[in-house]
Amino acid sequence: MTEQAQSTTEQDCPQCGAGMPVDERYPVWCTECEWNVAPELFVYGVGGTAGLRRESAGRHGTATFEELAREGTKGHRARLTPAHVLSYALALLVHGLSFALLGVGVWLLVRGWTRPLAAALGLPMALLFLVLRPRFPRLDTSLPRLGRAEAPRLFRLVDSVAREVGTRSVDVIVVDPYVNAAVTTYGLRRRVLHLGLGLWSVLPPQEKVALLGHELGHFANGDTRHGSFVGSALHTLRLWVLVLVPERWNGRFGRLLSLLVLRGPHHLAQSALTLLEKVTRRGFPRREYLADDLAAQVASTEAARDLMETLLHAEHIDGELRRLSEEAAQGTGRADETLWQRLAEHLAAVPPRERERMRRVSALEWHQQDAGHPPTHRRIELLDRRGPSAPRIVLDARTSRAVERELRPAAQTLAQAVARGA
Ligand SMILES: [Zn+2]
Ligand SMILES: [Zn+2]
Repeated sequence: MTEQAQSTTEQDCPQCGAGMPVDERYPVWCTECEWNVAPELFVYGVGGTAGLRRESAGRHGTATFEELAREGTKGHRARLTPAHVLSYALALLVHGLSFALLGVGVWLLVRGWTRPLAAALGLPMALLFLVLRPRFPRLDTSLPRLGRAEAPRLFRLVDSVAREVGTRSVDVIVVDPYVNAAVTTYGLRRRVLHLGLGLWSVLPPQEKVALLGHELGHFANGDTRHGSFVGSALHTLRLWVLVLVPERWNGRFGRLLSLLVLRGPHHLAQSALTLLEKVTRRGFPRREYLADDLAAQVASTEAARDLMETLLHAEHIDGELRRLSEEAAQGTGRADETLWQRLAEHLAAVPPRERERMRRVSALEWHQQDAGHPPTHRRIELLDRRGPSAPRIVLDARTSRAVERELRPAAQTLAQAVARGA
């Protein structure tokens, strides 16, 4: 009986009777009628999840998608949208207020230093500026970093992608274990690329080029400049809300003070924060779609599309990475750089049928890479509409191997780190 069950490689669909191949590592589903196509969704309910996703993508997200679907993304570059202008203006106002505070504080201290009241007002104002001032993000120091000297081939690849999308290259590459990649600025004008080995190591060479195209595309489109300026204003506003929160002030005098003086400003700061967060999020879908277009321009539409499909497996990759690090932690696996290789092999072994299922699931649940990215199936749809294109940069096998060699020390360090963390 059990023997027979094991040897069965096909089942009949209980809904339409079509044959369904069985692979016990993955859900069994029907390609004809989509029976059991998304068992994971029944936990949350298909309707609810899709509805929530749609809501979070928002009416604006849909409008952006429809606009780009109509006009096409090809050659469509970033432009100043009303949301863009408004977020810049709000951020400028926030930072302007901090500098005004400093100006008045210093003025009070200088002009009225003999008068105790002026000094008592001026000093806290000037000190408050130190807390609220615009900040340049710093670089995370705990993760392995690569400079040009340590990774010349990787930098040459990144440089060529940067040239292709028309932007300055990065100054440093920070390697982390996550199934992700990102670009940010730090210091005054320094650029950093965060390369998550959980993603990088599972990507075939041309998808790696697409990933770099997408990330450097964010620089080319000015997204990081916008991000760091508005981001630091958001930080300042959150501090304002924290300082002004009325419940913070106790005692009869404190309560009176909060009622008369703080309630209004607190409300104002909170509203400004909500507004700035909202207008900033409105720009997210557009910049991701346009970065995808640059990824396609550099690596070919096909490679960009393949990258999107790999992103559909992000959770799966994450789960496997956790399993591998637990094995290594218990001493049954190895905590060396081969961990990333095994992760890649695991993903490569996912059968086409399961890949097809994930494509269908993504449209049902509106899969998103993270809160800042539009639904993956829509990114795929825009790439499909873009039409096929030839790659402008090809990552050949030799360069690919050289790049992996350069990443090996970081891969080693991170493999040990995830095994310790498991
Ligand atoms: Zn069926
Ligand atoms: Zn992006």
